[in-house]
Amino acid sequence: MNFEFNEEQDRFREDLRHFLNDELTDEWRGIYGSNAHATVQLTRDICVALAERGWLTLSWPKEYGGSDGDLWSQMVLREEMWAHGEPRGPQYMNLNYIGPMIMRFGSEEQKQRFLPPMAAGSVIWTQGFSEPGAGSDLASLRTRAEDKDDHFVVNGQKIWNSYANSPADWCLLLVRSNTEEKKHRGISVLLVDMTTPGITVRPIRSMGGFGEINEIFFEDVVVPKENLLGPQDGGWPLITYGLSFERTGIATHGRALRTIEQLIDYVRTTERDGRRLCDDPEIRTKIADLYCRYRAARLISYRVTSMVEAGKEPVAEASMAWIHGGQATQEAARVGMEIVGWNGLLREGESDAPIGGAMEREWIEMIPMSIGAGTVDIQRLIVAQRGLGLPKAG
Ligand SMILES: Cc1cc2nc3c(=O)[nH]c(=O)nc-3n(C[C@H](O)[C@H](O)[C@H](O)COP(=O)(O)OP(=O)(O)OC[C@H]3O[C@@H](n4cnc5c(N)ncnc54)[C@H](O)[C@@H]3O)c2cc1C
Repeated sequence: MNFEFNEEQDRFREDLRHFLNDELTDEWRGIYGSNAHATVQLTRDICVALAERGWLTLSWPKEYGGSDGDLWSQMVLREEMWAHGEPRGPQYMNLNYIGPMIMRFGSEEQKQRFLPPMAAGSVIWTQGFSEPGAGSDLASLRTRAEDKDDHFVVNGQKIWNSYANSPADWCLLLVRSNTEEKKHRGISVLLVDMTTPGITVRPIRSMGGFGEINEIFFEDVVVPKENLLGPQDGGWPLITYGLSFERTGIATHGRALRTIEQLIDYVRTTERDGRRLCDDPEIRTKIADLYCRYRAARLISYRVTSMVEAGKEPVAEASMAWIHGGQATQEAARVGMEIVGWNGLLREGESDAPIGGAMEREWIEMIPMSIGAGTVDIQRLIVAQRGLGLPKAG
């Protein structure tokens, strides 16, 4: 178990950092916070530039437009993306788990049709899982797909759909295709063209800005049978596969480290009451504690990667990595707000905002880390059941 990166991987990290420093503009503010068209366009440009270098789908097989890269180089890529605010924007979903789901469960025709545009960075997908009555209990979903021989007719509503109005070109949609079966059994996965008549996207105003998350309404939407992914009524294993990729595909700890580094710079260069902040023992211990949390989160994340490399399925470990990565980022921002003091409430663009308003932004933007991809409560239940072998809660 050697968690040192090799020379080639270290060089790759350096190359990536140079690339991101050159390509990211001042207007870039990360995946949360702004869904302005300028930002979405910037993420499109970055994805195309990454694709040209073979980095966008680094670990995908060559036959689907990837570079056959190893899992640890992919980890380097994830860490650097998150440390730079995830400039792949909406496309991180295609790359992290929608593409791998199609690779694993799609027909050869679906692979040839859907994977190359993802690998070229030219397509945006949204995820249509949650509904007003089905979040943690996803299997209760009610969006209905009626079987009409060569097509389905879809009616229902989804909610909290990230980037649906970017606009997304395609939706990975979960539907109830059989009402006779038990709830986990009658679910199918459809690949839905978002320009199909009958689809309406309505942006939701949230802390993250207007339009980062959305509702999607489906009214008599016709989806051809060729767009069914995996077996009809047998979509549940695809969902668990996709969700574990979603949880492990994001190197949240990379973002925690960036916040910690910003704080270190700040306390080194800022004086309060005639004393440098970095000389205050309380501040030093707070930052040291953040660094311990970051290192623990990173270690669990690396453990997950080493399990995948060994061909094991890291279910409880993926949940642990998600809990710790999310909490490391949230805690870094919370402690950051304490250290910068009242001025920390000033937003980006205000002249007195410490670190350019970075702590306030991070503090708000990291709140969804406790909710998205399954809440922390649900992740803990997975650890209890799958990691500790406790019986399923009654
Ligand atoms: C920023 C953001 C982006 C998102 N993007 C998408 C997206 O692109 N596509 C998509 O489909 N969804 C998306 N979601 C939705 C997300 O997956 C759900 O919000 C999440 O699964 C929780 O579901 P819910 O909101 O219905 O809450 P609920 O399931 O109603 O949970 C409410 C509370 O009860 C707790 N709870 C529920 N069940 C249990 C239990 N059995 N034991 C203990 N506690 C429990 C939860 O932890 C939570 O605190 C996004 C959410 C956010 C915040």
